[in-house]
This record gives sequence, structure tokens and C-alpha cells, in this order.
Amino acid sequence: MYTLVSILPHIHSKRHLLRNAEQLIYDLAYDSRKIRNAPHSLFFALKNVRDGHTFIPDAYHKGVRAFVVSRDDIDTTLYPEANFFWVKDVLKAMQELARYHRRQFRKPIIGITGSNGKTMVKEWLAQLLQEDKKVYQSPKSYNSQLGVALSLWNLSEDYDCAIIEAGISQPDEMDQLEEMIHPDIGIMTNIGVAHAEGFASKTLKITEKLKLFKHTRDVIFPSRYGFGKYLSSETRTFTFGEHDVDDVRVLRIEERKEGNSSIQVIYRKEKVTFTVPFVDKASIENVLICFTTLLFLGYSLNAIIHKLGRLRPLEMRLQLKTGRYNCSIIDDTYSNDLASLQIALDFLHQQQQHKKKTLILSDMDGLNDHLEAKLLSVLRQQNLHRIIMVGKSLHRLQDKLDTLLLSFDSTEELVRNLGNIAFENETILIKGSRRYHLEDVSKLLVAKSHETVLEINLSALEHNLQMYRSMLPPNVKLMVMVKAFSYGSGSYEVANLLQFNKVDYLTVAFADEGVELRQHGIDLPIMVLSPDEQAFESLLSSQLEPEIYSFRIIKALIDFLRIRKQKAFSIHIKIDTGMHRLGFLPDELEELATLLSTAPEIKVKTVFSHLVSSGNRQHDDFTIQQITMFSSSVDKLEAILGYKVVRHIANTSGIVNWPSAYMDMVRLGIGLYGVDMNKKMTLEKVSELKTTITQIKELPAGATVGYDRKGLLHRPSRIATVKIGYADGYSRRFGEGVGEMSINGQRVRTVGSICMDMCMLDVTDVAAQELDEVVVFPDWIEAAARIGTIPYELLVNIAARVKRIYFYG
Ligand SMILES: *Cc1c(COP(=O)(O)O)cnc(C)c1O
Repeated sequence: MYTLVSILPHIHSKRHLLRNAEQLIYDLAYDSRKIRNAPHSLFFALKNVRDGHTFIPDAYHKGVRAFVVSRDDIDTTLYPEANFFWVKDVLKAMQELARYHRRQFRKPIIGITGSNGKTMVKEWLAQLLQEDKKVYQSPKSYNSQLGVALSLWNLSEDYDCAIIEAGISQPDEMDQLEEMIHPDIGIMTNIGVAHAEGFASKTLKITEKLKLFKHTRDVIFPSRYGFGKYLSSETRTFTFGEHDVDDVRVLRIEERKEGNSSIQVIYRKEKVTFTVPFVDKASIENVLICFTTLLFLGYSLNAIIHKLGRLRPLEMRLQLKTGRYNCSIIDDTYSNDLASLQIALDFLHQQQQHKKKTLILSDMDGLNDHLEAKLLSVLRQQNLHRIIMVGKSLHRLQDKLDTLLLSFDSTEELVRNLGNIAFENETILIKGSRRYHLEDVSKLLVAKSHETVLEINLSALEHNLQMYRSMLPPNVKLMVMVKAFSYGSGSYEVANLLQFNKVDYLTVAFADEGVELRQHGIDLPIMVLSPDEQAFESLLSSQLEPEIYSFRIIKALIDFLRIRKQKAFSIHIKIDTGMHRLGFLPDELEELATLLSTAPEIKVKTVFSHLVSSGNRQHDDFTIQQITMFSSSVDKLEAILGYKVVRHIANTSGIVNWPSAYMDMVRLGIGLYGVDMNKKMTLEKVSELKTTITQIKELPAGATVGYDRKGLLHRPSRIATVKIGYADGYSRRFGEGVGEMSINGQRVRTVGSICMDMCMLDVTDVAAQELDEVVVFPDWIEAAARIGTIPYELLVNIAARVKRIYFYG
């Protein structure tokens, strides 16, 4: 923790204006749109694409009081409470501060550089070390001059070690990074072709990258690139490769038909063989880098091999799918060890849509007595309906569990008998190591459908939830909007996750949606936004709490409850403070309160209103007016009712922009689903709409594509047909080049009009093949803007026939 005055000596300021020397600084800021903790941020006016000095007024307005600047013409009287440091180079000042901060960290820092694989190695290493250490790693792509400074700033004594990635694109950049990172241990992953990164020659590129390790004692790398000869004689190297001189000698790498590789190495005369779940050269090299690094760090061969078994490429995550016979299938067929079994079982437990739960489990490698005892205790804690075991070594568990057990010697045997097992209304967790190919079982149990899918990343959703939660003071409750099929992302799957994460309230639009949630194990309180008289019966039987917006509806509800002899039924009063959609106008509240105070049938749980423009600064005055009007209206209501109610008015943008509107509860919507309308948060993408290329054609200039000859080709073109059309929710307005999709990371445009079930893309300029995967909306906000709408509409328009697949982990 630093005060402004303590920062002063470390940024080489030529001049300063200190009005509050003891001001504490926690955050470094450089983008006025992304300020999180304004009073404790130090704003750096960087000269990037735009001159950061022009954002000083905005940052000041948001509460920032400390600035590092380089321009002399700042009128400081405009910012009467601000502190200023003048420096020659603002970025450099930030780097110097990061450097100073890094020097306070006494534990080892591992620096990683190279042409490719840096991020993968960093992520994997962190994953491997995390089991017994607190590891800090630089965030995803924070490897540049700015990114590294920001990464280092977040180091703290809480960590046992740190892994920092450094990336350069030009000569002379590494010295800066080296001064900041000053790694204790170095890893150089590999080197690619010179011109690809803007260097004149390979030698130049290698020597430049290796500058990161100028003061590093130990450097680890694959020997085949010959980095050793460029390092100073004082550097100690630790390498793997095919030669006797390598510390880790690789004897054999064998690809196996199960889709994994067996690797044999020799280290200090000890020969070991282990399996990794990859076959491609790059992944194997990255795994070997991690392997070698762990040896260097002193882990035993056995411990490392055990850890490596858990590595997975990112796409190998647990998936939740809709199954046949009204089942839900949790497919986790890539690994099987206790730790990942526990994670999968936690997820099974979290999904409450069916009472009945079945586990299909394959043999676990190395099942000895010790492991068996642990496995039994894990399985006994679960409330499983039955366990289906695959593999001979599990037979030994037969008599040791009370759960109903079925046992098969092999996956083939299970597949043959699958038709005889009655699966119905249950959640089935399929958990097995790769060599058991339990995906064959999963395929048979999952419902077939159209091949366009909406992938929903539940871990990202959880991350986003945490982001918003961290902004709220502990006494503010959180209501989450799951209306419209959770903004298109699924109903009970999302609701179960939210329930598990203990949000306070859920909100749906119609009673039916609430009934469905109740049927799938949701017992959180649920508010219904648009109840009508026909729905009263379901409100009562499913304990749903209606929004009450008019005298007509409240009177009808009271009559209904009186006949049923119901007392104190929970309702939510909506006040119209300016939206002019549903709700009581403030001058109707006295009459309402009088009516309510004579109706014991009713209990007002919360009173709320909706902000019209919380995300649009242009209407700030109106927002303030709404907040004020709301507060005084509720005061009046409470006075007549004689009891306190829970108040809420802020939606996602309200949470981000209007802390003064948090009141007792906030209502989170779009932000949870990963769309950051305010561009202020670090949200993760939750929904990915994906389709596939069905056919590719080479067509001459002058040909036309699609209905009404709308897509005239002006050059010889490659045209790809993909399986998504307006019946899937891909609007016709995306036709004729308006829509952009992404294939292998490259953007392509639509040609011709959008058909009902298909549309065509111009793939002339990109590498694309039939059956390639296509991301339909690389950026939801941008795509929505292209057709003049908002991401909300794109999300909720994705048709029900598009299969939802859920990922977790
Ligand atoms: C949909 C809705 C919200 C959530 O709005 P977001 O902009 O998605 O956060 C909040 N309150 C009410 C009444 C809503 O209808």
C-alpha cells in the first residue's frame, strides 16, 4: 500500500503538486472508462492512440484525485482537489513504479518469453503449481510494455511465486521489460520465423528475446533451438531434448490411437514413461517445458507425472447437455482422477433439475487401497441414485457402497446394454478417463438436434457474477434477472448456478417461467414481472411473487386471495418514476397504501422502480430525478403501511454507474451474461453462437448468390454455406455483407440474403474448409450495432431449436 508521497521518489517526477500527500493508492488507471476505485487510483495520462490528457476531466469527474502527466499546459485550478506529478514520459513513470513494487516481492518470479506458446505454458504452469502454492500469473494478454507494468503492480506478499509473460514485437523493447520483471527463473519457449514478428534476422530475434534473462541465474528451454550459445557464461541452463547433455533427455514420443501420447524421458539416470492428453507437437513441447520446469523447481518425477495427468487443453471442459428421456447429461469424459471427479460431482450437486442422479464412472488409473478409500468416501457423500461402473478394477467396490450399482467390464459392454437401462428424468454424470471413450455413451444419451449451437460458459457467468458482487457493499442484496430464458442462455441451468452461488432473488417475466424453475429445483424467491389474472393460481401453487403495477391487478389479486383464505401473500410494488411502462404513478401511492393497509391478504416485500437511462450520461439529470422521486415515494408508502420494505431501482448499468442507487437491492441483468454495455468491467464472454460450414464453392465473377440474385460477385470467389438462418434468430438484416462472422479467428462477411435455415459467407480471403466451425457473433455489441439494435435483442432471439451446450470449468 502506498501513499502519494511515498510514490513520489519512484517515478522521477520533475515537478509536483501535492494537495493530499497521504492519499492511499491501490489502483493504477489509464483509461477513464475503466476506473474502479476512483479515490484510490493513480491515473496515468498515457499517449496511446489518443492522448490520455484529454481524459483527465472525465477521470476527475469520476472521483480520481491523483494524476501522472507530461503536459505542462494543464489548468490545475479546474481540478481543485487533484494531485499532479509531472514526468517526462508517463509510460516510463508507470514502469518505474511497477519496477519498484516488484522489488518488494521477495519470492521467485518466473519470466516467460518466446515466439509461441507463452500463454499456454504460463497457464499450465500456474495450474500445475496451484495445487500446493499460491501462484500469481499475469492476466491473459498482459505481456506488453503497459500490460507487464499493470501485471506487476498486482503482486502482493500473499503469493508464493509469480509467473509473468513478456512479449515484444520490435527490437529494443525487451530491456524495459527486463528491468521491470527481473525474473529469478527464465523460460524461453521457442522461436518462430523472423519476419513474422518484425525482426531482421533470427539471431537478432533470439538475442533480443533473451535479454529478458540478462540478470537471471537459471534459464529453462528446449535445447533444439540452440539458445544456449546466446546466453552469458554465468547463466545456468536447464534443458530438455534428445542429447546426452540435456538435463531431461527425451527418449521417445509415441502418438497413440486413443488420442494421447506416451513420452519416455530419462532424468538423473531414472527412466520414466508418462501419458499426456495431446498429440500435436506444440502441445507436447509445451508440456515438456512445464515438466522440465517442475523438475527444476524440485518436484519429484512421480509428483510431476501425477500432476500432468490433470492438464487439459482449454476446450476439454465439462459440458452439460440436454439428454433423451428428459435427462440432463453432464459429459466429462477426458480425465478421471479424484480431484476432477470431485469438481464434476460438485457440479452435479449444483444442478437441481432432477432429483434422481446417476454417475457413470470409468476405472481410475492406479487404484490402490489408499485411493480406493478416498474414492469410497467421495462417493458416499453423494446422494446418488445409482452408479454405473465401467472397467474391471472397479469391481472391488461392489460390496462397499449402499448405492445401487451396475458394473460393466468395458465401454463396449455398457454401450451394448444401454438400451436395457431405464434412464428417465435424471441427471447423468459421465466421468471417465480418455481411454475409456465414454463419449460413445454420452453420444447415445444426448438428444439429437440441429447443428448450430449456443455454447454457454457457466464459469464465465460465475466470474461475471463475482465481478458485480464485488462492487456491492455487503448489505446490498442481489436480484438476478432470468427472464426471457435467461436472456437466451437457458432457464434452470443458469438458475441452478445462481442458486448455488446464493443470490437473493430471481426474476422472470411470466408465471410459466417461474413454474418451470420450481419444477427444476429452484427454491429461491422469484419475482414475476408481468402477472395476469389467469396466472394467479400458479403464483399461489408455485410460491411466485408478482409485481403489482395497477389498481386493477391488486384488486383482482386481493379478491382471489380472500376466496382462498390466504394471508400475507408476498408482492412487489412497482412505481413508475419516468419509464412510463408499468407501475403506479407517485400521486397514486397514497390511495394504494390505504388500500394495502386494509388488506391482510397482502404483504409488501419490496418496492421498486426502473431507471430509464442509467447507462447514458446524457440523461444523468433525469436519472437523479428518478432516484429522488423513488426515495420520497417509498418514504410516503412506508409511513402509511407502517412497516419497512426492501427498495431497489438499479439495473446492470445502475450498478456500474450509480452507487447512490444501490439502496437495499440491485437487479443484475445483461452484465451477468457477459455484455458490458458500459465498457467498464472485465467481463468474460458467456454465450458463443456457433455453426458449421456445410459446403464451399468456387464461383466466377458475375455469378450471383442466393435469393433474388442479391449477392453479385465482383471477383472470382469462394463462397461458404453455413447452417444458420433467420429461423435460428439470425436476422435477415445481416444479409448482403452487413453481418460478420469469424472462421479460425478471421472475420468474413455474408453474401446475398439470409435464408430461413442457411446463409452464405465470402471466404475468398481466408483459410476455410468444409465442416469448419464458424462463430456467428464475434462481438455481440458490435453485431447488434450493425443492424441498429442492442445485444439484448440478438441474445433473446436465438431460436429454441438452437441447442444450448453448457460448459463449466
Ligand atoms: C430486464 C430488467 C432489468 C435488468 O436490466 P439490465 O439492463 O439487463 O441489467 C432490471 N429491472 C427490470 C424491471 C427489468 O425488466
